[in-house]
Amino acid sequence: MIARGRKTILRGLPAAPGLTLGEARVVYSLEQTIEERVITPDQVEHELMRLDMAVAESLTELESLKESASRKISGPVARIFESQFMIADDREFLKNVKAEIASQLKAAEYIYSLMVEKAVAPLRASRDQYMRQMVVDIEAVSNRILRRLTGQAARHIGQAPQESIFVGKIFSPAEVMNLYERKVRAIVTTAGGVNSHMALIARSLLIPTVVGIPQAHLKIMSGDRLIVDGDKGTVTINPSLDEWNQVRKKKARVTALQILKLDKLPDFPPRTADNIDIDVAANYDVPGPIDRILADHKVGIGLYRTEFIYLQNGRFPSEDDQYRLYNSVAKVHYPRPVTIRTFDLGSDKYHPSDSNMKENNPALGWRGIRASFDMPNVFKDQVKAILRASKRGNVKMLLPMIADITELRKAGRIIRHAMAELRKSNLPFDRNIQIGIMIEVPSAAVAADILAEKVSFFSIGSNDLTQYTLAADRDNQKLAKIFNPLHPAVLRLIRMTIEAAQKNNIPVAVCGEMSGDILSIPLLIGMGISQLSMNPSRLYNACRLIPKIKYSDAVKIAKEVSRLKTLKEIEGFLLNYNMSVE
Ligand code: PEP
Ligand code: MG
Repeated sequence: MIARGRKTILRGLPAAPGLTLGEARVVYSLEQTIEERVITPDQVEHELMRLDMAVAESLTELESLKESASRKISGPVARIFESQFMIADDREFLKNVKAEIASQLKAAEYIYSLMVEKAVAPLRASRDQYMRQMVVDIEAVSNRILRRLTGQAARHIGQAPQESIFVGKIFSPAEVMNLYERKVRAIVTTAGGVNSHMALIARSLLIPTVVGIPQAHLKIMSGDRLIVDGDKGTVTINPSLDEWNQVRKKKARVTALQILKLDKLPDFPPRTADNIDIDVAANYDVPGPIDRILADHKVGIGLYRTEFIYLQNGRFPSEDDQYRLYNSVAKVHYPRPVTIRTFDLGSDKYHPSDSNMKENNPALGWRGIRASFDMPNVFKDQVKAILRASKRGNVKMLLPMIADITELRKAGRIIRHAMAELRKSNLPFDRNIQIGIMIEVPSAAVAADILAEKVSFFSIGSNDLTQYTLAADRDNQKLAKIFNPLHPAVLRLIRMTIEAAQKNNIPVAVCGEMSGDILSIPLLIGMGISQLSMNPSRLYNACRLIPKIKYSDAVKIAKEVSRLKTLKEIEGFLLNYNMSVE
């Protein structure tokens, strides 16, 4: 138990970026009391009717949530409510519930909850995060129906004060939408992963979110003052007055909505103090309110993570569906470049229906381009869709997890085949489309000179490059101190990659989280990076920092850092420089 008033820092997983502060509002799960009520045979008809009504009313609610979600969030994320709708409307399940009500002669809510529990028990035991996500969806639906049957009220989020920080065991996607309406400042949960539906929605709606803090909903109390850092995944309870004021004063850093301030920037793209243009772009995960903002501010897309399209429903969209999606993004951003990465599935990015994707070491397993090679039709459909969307000339294709030249050649053959098919069908595409690879597997960085001869550009995935170089799982909180792209070994690989790119006259971007990190930006510029592609929430700060940096100083920094031997020395050195320009 936390002594009230004492400062405590809780650590979880950063699910949606942004730094904010406010008062906590803890929402406890409403445990529904379901009575085992016995009924008489002549009451059966009435119970069945009550069940039908509860389901019908819930379906109406879900329908309107579905509509309002599709107005606000567009694309696959909005389909979360579609799947909840389908769960609620499972006719086969309802038929079985009705049969049990009639045979056991028990009240509708009792039989319904019993049968839901039986259905979710095996899913609950699963270690698979998507199975667990399914439990969350099923429980959200069954609670909705049971509340109708028992007459017990829903959690009173709708009446909660505006602009609070909401803390709970878990929130359903519908509740996150509701919190958004209440101008929630941040969300903190005990359960949930960064790829949960809730986290995806929070990211799309720009709500700073930290998930996976052990017992967050018990450790935090309503009324506690909190600082939530959605980038670091930390929550500070009762911070000192100094810290509180610091965060409050630094208004520019206070929220992910900083992206809305992009038009306050004097220059985009930004220039260094000595007038060198720095190419800054955004990473694109799920469609949301930021799309328009990015397009309006003429920010290109340096990394479009297409795997999220698949993860939303476990289905690969057809070539035509993908074409429509990619084409609309390419059109909105035209003439800015849009770099579309082919599916990077595997590791933690898989769907429950993919039973063949479960492996002992998933990050070292069937992932990225390797998985695409084993699904040749899926890969070719995607390549064709990306090619078709390139017809205006502003689309680039990016291949994930390439480990060596053999894989690159293999991908090249499939791409050429796809191009031949498009030509045959008279479908237009950019014949000079730039095709690049992610440098995120250490073997690719080590052999960057061989790879650079065969591609149009490199994009360094510092997240995976760090995890594989340092053998430190990027999602493991216990390794947070070890996992750091500023480690001298990771920087050596980045340096080798840049040198190989420069020798071959190809641009090299960084699209891992490091590219938006204020400490790393001067160093990366000095090392000779051509583009920084970052989470949209980090654009504003990055663009404010860059004009304060002298390119000539950045080059000196990079030289100095190359001589340092430990992470600590490098961080200390960069921190010092950073403070001098802030
Ligand atoms: C990376 O690994 O740095 C990267 C950008 O790819 P992702 O985070 O999607 O694995
Ligand atoms: Mg990666």
